[in-house]
Order: sequence, then structure tokens, then C-alpha cells
Amino acid sequence: MIIRPRIRGFICTTAHPAGCAVNVRAQIARIAPVSNGPRKALVLGASGGYGLASRIVAGFGAGADTLGVSFERAPTATRTASAGWYNNVAFEESAAERGLYAMTLDGDAFADEMKSRVVEEIRASLGQIDLLVYSLASPMRRHPRTGVVHRSAIKPLGQTVHIKNLNQATGDVGEVDLSPATQEETAATVAVMGGEDWEFWISALLDAQVLAPGFKTVSYTYIGSQLTWPIYWKATLGKAKEDLDRAAHAIGTRLSGLHGAARVAVLKAVVTQASSAIPAVPLYLALLFKVMKAAGNHEECIDHIDRLFRTALYSDEAPVLDDVDRIRMDNWELSDAIQAEVVQRWPLVSTATLPELADLEGIRGDFLEIFGFGVTGVDYDADIDPTLGRAPN
Ligand code: NAD
Repeated sequence: MIIRPRIRGFICTTAHPAGCAVNVRAQIARIAPVSNGPRKALVLGASGGYGLASRIVAGFGAGADTLGVSFERAPTATRTASAGWYNNVAFEESAAERGLYAMTLDGDAFADEMKSRVVEEIRASLGQIDLLVYSLASPMRRHPRTGVVHRSAIKPLGQTVHIKNLNQATGDVGEVDLSPATQEETAATVAVMGGEDWEFWISALLDAQVLAPGFKTVSYTYIGSQLTWPIYWKATLGKAKEDLDRAAHAIGTRLSGLHGAARVAVLKAVVTQASSAIPAVPLYLALLFKVMKAAGNHEECIDHIDRLFRTALYSDEAPVLDDVDRIRMDNWELSDAIQAEVVQRWPLVSTATLPELADLEGIRGDFLEIFGFGVTGVDYDADIDPTLGRAPN
């Protein structure tokens, strides 16, 4: 079939296998060796965004065997897979060429059943792991103990927020009113994106004795600029992310017997499926990218995670931590020079000034690339088998 992007709001319902494969291989090609890195890594949320970048740096930078977990849609003869499914295939093929073990388990990482499958696979193939990257981004979580399905709400706290917003498809800059979350919605968001599931993973892995001495775990968070605080850091998502800080300390204590460490790493804003869904964030991203590209310090997922591994997680020097012991990789995004410029542009940006002040083409291109479209060297008129010759499930 001929595969074209089909965009619905902030998602694309099709994905291009060849484009996804080229993207994964291009990320792999950018990685230089990482010394003293992980040997055996488990990456939760391995199929896209920061999780995929982490798996690539662990595997192709440090030479680690990687076990990935993701929640992706397999293809049929008439429907493409989700992009992450194609990314997983491309990663596994590249790993096989390099002689690296790479296994991906697809299913619900919040479920006890997935934790058991992972423990079995570690026992069978890896023995023990020395790194767990927690990079899930999900709109919902079925709680494994209560069976309750929690749905996150991307909402402000306390009062209605009136904030600038970008329609990425049309390029129109407008304003939206975002009504505040109820207490239940805030609690549900913490249940989905907070630290409890990370703790459940550590418990399952500790109980199974599959964590190696010196084991490390890292979970990703975002704080961002005062411009997005009303809908992110000081909103429901920020409450969930605060809970990661609590979990990191609790997990750190539990790992002391292994001389292990648990860290939250604050990452920069990038275009991913998760970030595209947050109001106001695409406008902030468009301004930020223009300013960071001009300053010469713009990073994509892969560059950013490479810097995280090289300068913080596996550096000979102890990483610089903030007042709640987080690793700050957002120091370039939040530098005074970058923020002063973005903050100055924010009130000036409108539909008319957007092309001059912001990088709409950049964020649109990144968005399409997530799904394997707009990738240089890919023949989008070619007839392609969406199943990649694999029998559909
Ligand atoms: P993403 O949407 O690109 O990837 C999410 C991953 O989670 C995918 O691999 C998906 O398959 C997996 N997943 C979702 N639900 C799952 C489930 N139930 N079971 C198994 N796998 C599941 O997301 P991302 O933007 O890379 O976000 C990853 C982490 O990085 C999040 O914690 C996010 O808050 C954080 N972060 C993102 C940004 C940003 O700008 N995108 C910035 C800082 C921090």
C-alpha cells in the first residue's frame, strides 16, 4: 500500500515503516561510544521519544544488551502499525547486525503480568540488569491492585487558565481557556504519571533478585519555563512529576543494599507524541526551537540522552544535583539567555509574527518524523507492505 500521513488533532493514525527505520538508524549513527556505561538495560517506554533514545545510547553507545517494553499497535495487511512498532523492529534489526541482544515486549507496563514477563525474560536471557530507564508516557493506567482505570487530566490547578496556544496544522495562534482540575482528576493524574508504578517495578525486580550490584534507575521529568507552568509544572502533570521525586528517594533507600541509585532526570522540551498533546506546549516549543537553534545549542532526543549518559549517569564525576537531588539536563533550555529571549517573544507572537519569531516548520517536521514521514531518502510513492512480511497477529 501507499502510506500517507493521516493527522487527527495531535496524533497521526498512520506510520511509515521505511521512514521509521531510517529515523532509528540515523539516531544510531549519531552515537559515539559511551565508556563505563550500562551492560544490561531495561527500558520502559522504549519505542519512541526519550525511551527509544535511551535504548539507542545504552545499546549502541555502551554496547548494552537491552530489553524494551512498549505499548504499540501491530500492523495488519490493510492498516499500518503504530510508529513505535516499526521503531522496535528497526532497533532489533540493527542490534542483531551489531551482535547485541535486543528483545521488546509489547503490552501494558502497568500490569503485574508484564512485570512477570520481564522478570522471566531477564532470568532467561540476561541474568541481572544494571539499568532501568523509566520513560513511560501514558494517558491512562489500570491499577494492578484495585483494577481501577485512572485517566490523566492535563489541567491547571485552582483556577481557569487563559493561555496562548498554537494550532499546529493551520499555524494559527489563539488563546484557550483551560478549566481547573478537580481533586479526583489531580489524584488520577498522579496515579497515572506519578511514581507508584516505578516503585512497583523496582519491588518486582528486587523480589526476583534480578538487579545487579551498583544497579541504577532513572525516571524522566519536565519542569520547563514559567510560560508553561500554568499547564505543566504548577498543574496536574507537575503534581504527578513531584510524586516521582518522592518515589526516587524511597527507591534510593531500597537500593542501598545493592549500592544502587535512583534518580529523576529533568529533560528538555522536545516534540514527541506525549508533548504534542499538551496545550500551549507546541507554541512554546516553536519559540524555544527557534531561539535554541539560533544559539547553536538545540538538541534532539538522541543528543540530549547522549549528554545525560555521558555527563551525568555514567560520568566519572558525580552529577550536579538540584535541591531535591534531581539531575538537571534542562540547564541549556532554562539558561537565562534562552529564557529571556523566549519570554520576550511570547507576548509578541501571533499568527502574523509566528514565521519570524518561531520555528513552526521545525516542530511540524519533527512531528511528522515521529511517524516516519518527511524523512529524507524515503520513497513515499513506493508500494510497501505494512506488515513488513511478518504474519499479522
Ligand atoms: P513518548 O510518547 O514518545 O513515548 C512514550 C512511551 O511509553 C512509548 O514507548 C509507549 O509505547 C510507552 N507506553 C505508553 N503507555 C504504555 C503502557 N501502558 N505500557 C507500556 N508502554 C507504554 O513520550 P516521551 O515524550 O518520550 O516521554 C517519556 C518521558 O519523558 C515521560 O516521563 C515524559 O514526561 C518525559 N519528558 C518528556 C519531555 C518532552 O518534551 N517530550 C520533556 C521532559 C521529560
